[in-house]
Amino acid sequence: MSSYPTAPDWSGAVAALHQADSVLLIAHVTPDADALGSALALGLALKSLGKKVQVSVGEPDFQVPSSLNFLPGLDLVVTPEQADSADVVVVCDTSSSERLGVLADFVSASAISIAIDHHPTFNGFGTIHIIDPESPATAALALKLIDLLDVTLTRDIASAIYAGLATDTGSFKFQSTTSETLRTAARLFDAGIQHSDLARKLFDDEPFDALRVLGVALERAVLVPTAVGGRGLVYTTVSSYDRGELPELAMERVIDTLRRTTEAEVAAVFKQTDEGVWKGSLRSKTSINVGEVAGSLGGGGHKYAAGYTGTSDVDQMVIDLISELDRAAGA
Ligand code: AMP
Ligand code: MN
Ligand code: MN
Repeated sequence: MSSYPTAPDWSGAVAALHQADSVLLIAHVTPDADALGSALALGLALKSLGKKVQVSVGEPDFQVPSSLNFLPGLDLVVTPEQADSADVVVVCDTSSSERLGVLADFVSASAISIAIDHHPTFNGFGTIHIIDPESPATAALALKLIDLLDVTLTRDIASAIYAGLATDTGSFKFQSTTSETLRTAARLFDAGIQHSDLARKLFDDEPFDALRVLGVALERAVLVPTAVGGRGLVYTTVSSYDRGELPELAMERVIDTLRRTTEAEVAAVFKQTDEGVWKGSLRSKTSINVGEVAGSLGGGGHKYAAGYTGTSDVDQMVIDLISELDRAAGA
């Protein structure tokens, strides 16, 4: 059962997609495997039904990041500049219209727009809603929609779904993983996915330079045992100078190492974009809802994984984060 006030409108989405001749699928800006994998899986399914399909991301001149360039169906991807208007727009894994980037107007101008998402902070854009914060990944919702469309689960579709499911569950380690999630994964195995190959490309494959920057970030990490009402915060920064020629997405996994810190309930990584703005990534373990903390700092996310974009220098962002975390801890 969904905890979102509006039950997913499966029949509305299926009817709209069956009637459409053309569909534009959109993943959130700086897409992860859940956003892009869901859009590609649905795109492949709709293409098999004879629809004209495009997949895009609202970043000017969007190119698929090298960390995701093994996903199936990438020939469906177009830049936002190349995106044609479509009968139906489907938005995947995107909690707010800000994360649609330059495609936001495209969505609001579309007569039918389906939002498929699992963020508790989903803020209501779109005309048809499939929102389930209990779902471990948008990819799980995309798979259900594909089933309802009566499309056969091919290996390519299953691989794109698996990429999203494995990513958002932290390889089936996070609290959101249920026995049903594992049954879904088993079904994807049965559809012929190469799970160890996918897992290596998703989690265990990085440019040497990215590992060196990880080393720099860990070296300068700060542990604040008194923060979070005494439960501890560990944080670090990665400037655009540290990153050098590497893309912003190459720094996504710094948080995965930092969050292992025993002495900290919350881990934070502040990453500077090419434009010089700082983005905060937050992770918590058991007791702090970082989605709410990120929400009060202008971002959003899930209970144990969230993010936001800063409006000040990074030193002030650390101060503001510590005060929000203390408030969330009731300190
Ligand atoms: P990240 O730390 O970038 O991997 O993001 C963790 C989670 O927080 C993801 O589920 C994102 O969808 C969400 N998130 C990250 N940044 C933002 C933001 N600026 N606004 C809303 N949600 C965000
Ligand atoms: Mn996402
Ligand atoms: Mn997701």
